[in-house]
Amino acid sequence: MNNLPMIPFSPPRMDQKIIDEVVDTLKSGWITTGPKTKLFENKISEFTQASKTLCLNSASAGLELVLRWYGVGAGDEVIVPAYTYAATANVVVHCGAKVVFVDVNDQFLMDAQKVNAAITERTKVIMPVDIGGMPADYDALNQLVNSIEVKSKFKPENEVQNQLGRILILSDAAHSLGAYYKGKAAGILTDVTVFSFHAVKNLTTAEGGAICLNLPQGFDVEQIYKELNLKSLHGQNKDALAKTQIGNWRYDIVEAGYKCNMTDIAASIGLIELERYQEDMLVKRKYIFDQYAEAFSHFEWAIVPSYETEVATSSYHVFMLRIKGATEAQRDAIIQHIFDYKVSVNVHFIPLPSMSYYRSLGYDMANYPQTYALYSNEISLPVYYGLTDQQLQRVIDAVISAVNKVL
Ligand SMILES: *Cc1c(COP(=O)(O)O)cnc(C)c1O
Repeated sequence: MNNLPMIPFSPPRMDQKIIDEVVDTLKSGWITTGPKTKLFENKISEFTQASKTLCLNSASAGLELVLRWYGVGAGDEVIVPAYTYAATANVVVHCGAKVVFVDVNDQFLMDAQKVNAAITERTKVIMPVDIGGMPADYDALNQLVNSIEVKSKFKPENEVQNQLGRILILSDAAHSLGAYYKGKAAGILTDVTVFSFHAVKNLTTAEGGAICLNLPQGFDVEQIYKELNLKSLHGQNKDALAKTQIGNWRYDIVEAGYKCNMTDIAASIGLIELERYQEDMLVKRKYIFDQYAEAFSHFEWAIVPSYETEVATSSYHVFMLRIKGATEAQRDAIIQHIFDYKVSVNVHFIPLPSMSYYRSLGYDMANYPQTYALYSNEISLPVYYGLTDQQLQRVIDAVISAVNKVL
């Protein structure tokens, strides 16, 4: 079509500042979990106001560790939106519990009424997902799990479940670091929040994730941090850094833990990313969102995502454009044309109940009509730090031309 290079979907922003910080770590003599990881944890706590943060090698690991900490296992149910990435549900399967999918609302987010209808005596955890960077309705969800009716159904089966006395809310905030809901940052909107720092996410450490604790009064977050940290390091009661202290070689294994700690190499990327996240990265992403919103608002066929409302502000992670009236096949054809213009786009996400594995367990997409309706005409557009005005215009032109060809 043209000789211009392909516009990528979401390349990371890797510049000299990050390279210098990584090299500093490489030369420091300490490359795995150590001072930079601990500093990064404190910086995330500062940024979100969470009472404690634990960094790991992925959000998936974080979600699973929290489920394990809460004692989720066989016979339990965990409520997950049908509209999410596989990680949210797969970790529930790992624990041996049952995934209960619920349909979403017309903003791609968890619908508290549908969640309420899905709660049973077996429900232990609800996992809202802040799709595209827009926080779910946490007031409605927090109120729901604290309501007398829902609490009376809850059957605690261990000490922590007894202490909380209700369903735990575990926020999959893989997209939403930097988002706000009613003046509060993602990280403190509910009991526990997990962020992802995967390469395509808003803030990256190449691979990485973090658990932010915001449990009600009475929970000893320092102690829970230690427990989760232990679970991330084979249940070994002394980490590698502690063992370097003179004479401090002896250790014990107190449980059969996992191995999912963050390295200081990864943390050094994250430290630079976080330093310039609010004033630089988010400003740029908002600018791109605003340009797309302005350009497409002139077209009757465009459903522009809402990313700033009276209650919430997005982290501007994914611009989820929808094409009004397009069928799934037409949407696919539009995407094909967009690629012909050398522009990379994506679909967030192919709903989980339609995936082979989940179908084999008996889930049926017919039960999630709103999820299907949103998915079938959704196209995610490129949003990244290095996207120039010229490229932005090329994306807009490609989308308009492609839609005109198909609709
Ligand atoms: C990326 C993503 C995850 C998983 O993050 P990892 O850090 O790759 O484990 C979980 N949930 C959602 C919605 C995601 O997009």
